Amino acid sequence: MPETLIRKDVLIVGAGPSGLTLACGLARAGVSFHLIDKLGKRLPHSRALVVHLRSLEIFDQLGIADELLPLGNNVAGARVHFAGKPSVNVRFFDQSYAGCRFRGALFVEQERTEAVLDRCLNKLGHKVHFGHELIGFEERSGQVHASCRGDENREYQVECQYVVGSDGAHSVVRSQKNIPFLGSAYPQDFILADVDLTWDAPRNLFQIFIDRGGFLAVLPMKTKTRLISAKGRYRVDAPEPSMEDFQALVAQSAPYRAKLADPVWLTRFHLHHRIADKYVAGRVCLVGDAAHIHSPVGGQGMNTGIQDAWNLAWKLVWALRCADARQSQELLASYHEERHPVGERLIRTTDRAFNFVSGRSWLSQLARAYIAPWLVPRAAGLDNVRTRALYLITQLGISYRRSRLCGPDAGAGIFRRGLVSGDRMPNISVGGVALHGLLHHTKPTVLAVGAGSREDHGEWPVVCLLCGDSYTSKIVRSF
Ligand SMILES: Cc1cc2nc3c(=O)[nH]c(=O)nc-3n(C[C@H](O)[C@H](O)[C@H](O)COP(=O)(O)OP(=O)(O)OC[C@H]3O[C@@H](n4cnc5c(N)ncnc54)[C@H](O)[C@@H]3O)c2cc1C
Repeated sequence: MPETLIRKDVLIVGAGPSGLTLACGLARAGVSFHLIDKLGKRLPHSRALVVHLRSLEIFDQLGIADELLPLGNNVAGARVHFAGKPSVNVRFFDQSYAGCRFRGALFVEQERTEAVLDRCLNKLGHKVHFGHELIGFEERSGQVHASCRGDENREYQVECQYVVGSDGAHSVVRSQKNIPFLGSAYPQDFILADVDLTWDAPRNLFQIFIDRGGFLAVLPMKTKTRLISAKGRYRVDAPEPSMEDFQALVAQSAPYRAKLADPVWLTRFHLHHRIADKYVAGRVCLVGDAAHIHSPVGGQGMNTGIQDAWNLAWKLVWALRCADARQSQELLASYHEERHPVGERLIRTTDRAFNFVSGRSWLSQLARAYIAPWLVPRAAGLDNVRTRALYLITQLGISYRRSRLCGPDAGAGIFRRGLVSGDRMPNISVGGVALHGLLHHTKPTVLAVGAGSREDHGEWPVVCLLCGDSYTSKIVRSF
């Protein structure tokens, strides 16, 4: 007989990259959860393909970065082409940024990233319940009571302390909880092709061709290459794109002779930019696309979902172990406080970038035709501009300085140059071991930093309290 009542600490609805990362984080800490996905099996298409440095660091903490790296293409920079002008090379990484051990962005199909996370979860003794769907839930008597439909369409109940909606843009968890998803649709639509591309351009660079009409981006993965373009207004009746359309687009935009073959995905899609009003409401939390959606420019969506999940994981672990309900609530409230502004900023920056590369207004067209070809080569040559852009794109620069979890600020001592409470702690070497690898999801790590030995100065100049996500370095005291 199948179980009709399951009791767990957490119900995770949706096993995309966000739900899987959360599940791995909870599994490491020994928290019990039920992870469901309404899909019978994984989709053959991959939406996301860029894994940025900050996500690689999280995968490193999970012990899976080295498994993922060989499955993707390490991309060192971009070549930006403006119609009729010389192209500009923008190097991504020519040095270590913020103590990060990885270089470049990893271009790898989302399905491969999910497969690696799946395996990690299995090794931790858990699995995704595929073909199981959340139908509804209610909160009563300090618990969540959820109804799910599973194997052979049988309904069953889940009793848990928290439910997490990692169920994507059309989140049932979000709509059941009546959390507004604020925003609107973009006026443009995109076309996309995943193909074999043969041309004489280097594969360790991603190429973007920008002209007055819009853009064509060419993103090389390990074997396949993604072409993505937005050059027109959204039309409900627009046909699906064909290989001939893409062949013509490449011939018209790129200075290389190119041959396209063997498509695995050809599609047209229309996107929205929206954000959930609240990331936490009662015993409900939202992560990933359930909480925010936006244009894929910059490849930020999946990465942001992974980081939402990582931020929430240790807080759920502590909230479940904490005897004081008010403190648990405070901790979870800090999830909204830290990640909601990240989502808002992301939508603002991706909107701006998307408008620049494909906006229909005369100003956008003017910028693409005249201003950017002059400005981009100059800006790309300035180290501080490039570094700022990289901290933004790689998500290494995200900080939670206004979080309630930050102690009285004490960014002094050897970190005087910039690092303050709420910043990501650089992955420095501690006694020959990378610091992030020492952090634990179930207990805080106290890091005392000083130049020389303890005998030299008696006390340590900076004491940091680090939590499991390694992002929030809470500098609690300095002398
Ligand atoms: C063309 C395109 C390119 C992109 N490229 C990038 C990129 O390069 N880098 C990047 O970072 N992001 C990119 N993104 C965004 C990225 O794909 C998403 O942000 C990411 O997939 C979100 O992950 P998620 O786990 O939050 O949600 P999803 O991947 O949408 O997963 C949600 C899961 O929940 C399940 N589910 C839904 N409802 C229920 C229910 N009631 N019960 C049970 N299960 C349910 C679904 O079946 C699904 O498996 C791109 C998006 C698009 C469209």
